[in-house]
Amino acid sequence: MATKHENLVSWLRDAHAMEQQAERMLTAQKERLHNYPKLRTRIEKHIEETLGQRETLERALTRLGSEPSTLKDMSGKLMAFGQAMGGMVMSDEVVKGAMSGYVFETLEIASYTVLIAAAKAVGDTQTQQDCEAILQQEIAMADWLREHLPELSQAFLDRSDTPGLEAKR
Ligand code: MG
Ligand code: FE
Repeated sequence: MATKHENLVSWLRDAHAMEQQAERMLTAQKERLHNYPKLRTRIEKHIEETLGQRETLERALTRLGSEPSTLKDMSGKLMAFGQAMGGMVMSDEVVKGAMSGYVFETLEIASYTVLIAAAKAVGDTQTQQDCEAILQQEIAMADWLREHLPELSQAFLDRSDTPGLEAKR
């Protein structure tokens, strides 16, 4: 068994590992993008948000008498995502990247929804409010990606169909 406090701490550490992975994936994606400036700009904005989220989680863990775990934590659970995102040498990587990004944001939405419930159960109002604020950023990023998938796909298809233009990123 585990106390509510212990589960909250454990889930905050999972979220911290998730944000570190988000930072790596978004940065790798951003650096490879050249022909899709709107997507690149939105990713840059979310990298900034992601750094803030990680710091917020670190403060929450410190308040609760814990600290982020260094290596192992959630790396196994998230490895499939890393592999999916890492192997982006495909001809349509901008589209696959946006799709993977959307899926990852949805994982983040689920994680913070769980964390809000846990913080509520423990009576940790500060952590609850922090996670509610982060959740809004994840929802906004997921919505943006979903709403821009048609436009992005169209742009990719047009470039792909034009001799001499690079389409994939
Ligand atoms: Mg995040
Ligand atoms: Fe996110």
